[in-house]
Amino acid sequence: MNIPQKNEVHSMSESSDVSIGKDMLLDWQKEGLPFNAFGASLRRRFGGRIQRVSIDAGFTCPNVDGAVTKGGCNFCDNRSFSPSRRGRLASVLDQLNRGIESVRRRYDKVAGFIAYLQPATNTYGPIDQLEELYRACLDVSDEVMGLAIGTRPDCVPDPVLDLIDQLAEKHYVSLEYGMQTMHDAGLDWMNRGHHHASMIDAMQRSAGRGFETCAHIILGIPGETHADRMETAVEIGRLQVDAVKLHNLYAVRDTPLGEEVLSGKVEMMQRDEYIETVVDFLERIPRDVIVERVSGDAPPDFLIAPLWCLEKSALRLAIEKEFARRGTQQGDRFEGDSAAAAARALRAPATLQDQTPPSILARIAKERTLPVLKMKG
Ligand code: SF4
Repeated sequence: MNIPQKNEVHSMSESSDVSIGKDMLLDWQKEGLPFNAFGASLRRRFGGRIQRVSIDAGFTCPNVDGAVTKGGCNFCDNRSFSPSRRGRLASVLDQLNRGIESVRRRYDKVAGFIAYLQPATNTYGPIDQLEELYRACLDVSDEVMGLAIGTRPDCVPDPVLDLIDQLAEKHYVSLEYGMQTMHDAGLDWMNRGHHHASMIDAMQRSAGRGFETCAHIILGIPGETHADRMETAVEIGRLQVDAVKLHNLYAVRDTPLGEEVLSGKVEMMQRDEYIETVVDFLERIPRDVIVERVSGDAPPDFLIAPLWCLEKSALRLAIEKEFARRGTQQGDRFEGDSAAAAARALRAPATLQDQTPPSILARIAKERTLPVLKMKG
């Protein structure tokens, strides 16, 4: 299958210019969708249904191993990044083949797959090992159209971006940054171990490259007001990310956040407020930003709260209904011109020095062989 590259896709959808006129309809608008939904955008791009298959390569995280701090984010069940989990890992080939088989059992027609490096920080390793791993995923089958790589914005030194850029010449590649919020108080509350400056740095150094960027956002961080959340939405346009993943804050068992929710110290957002916040958020981002998710959840056995996020389809329908009730769409409240000007300022060459913390660079240099690379097959 011929894989359209990022720039081709943008020109096909007439949408790469953030100052695009509001009367110019994009494909998703012509299809009557309220927002630029991920599944539909992949179908348009690849000519059929594309499914992601998660791969666990046994990475750890600089927020867990002490490179930036220990303990991890307050919502993250990072006990699973332990040596025992590494012992249970299967090879890349096994993980992808099993994932592909399981998708095929569920759906009749699938045009291809994206290998999704999801748990932990998937750029936290020596560059030669990253290359071996990424290429191993892509080489598993012709049906693997590309990669999605989840990481932190403070863990993408220039050589990593160069490598990913190179892979994106022939494949779809999405680099998913855990931005969460643009407010440092919120990042501190969740013990991220980085501030928003890291996201700005990562996006500045990602600009103009061939891979896609995706920002993972959490709505419902305690202490953040509605206005704070809307500032994060505006920042999405300013940073010029290609895609967003919106998640409600949720708490799982045996995490610091889970304990605080159980003891009543932290409350989760209510469903109605979440729906309104998602619609307000999407109204403020550019029309060409792809919306990969509108909610997040965890397996019922682990989830503490909120339980409403388990009803994913109903939640998505409710978000679409809210758009219909308002008669609005994604981008209706995006202020194109000011965001475009800010984006140009963001790319000022004087600020393009790699800001990756030395402690992360030092750990990368010492990292032992990634568990899945030790396996045959
Ligand atoms: S950065 Fe990601 S992997 Fe690391 S502790 Fe936070 S949520 Fe977990």
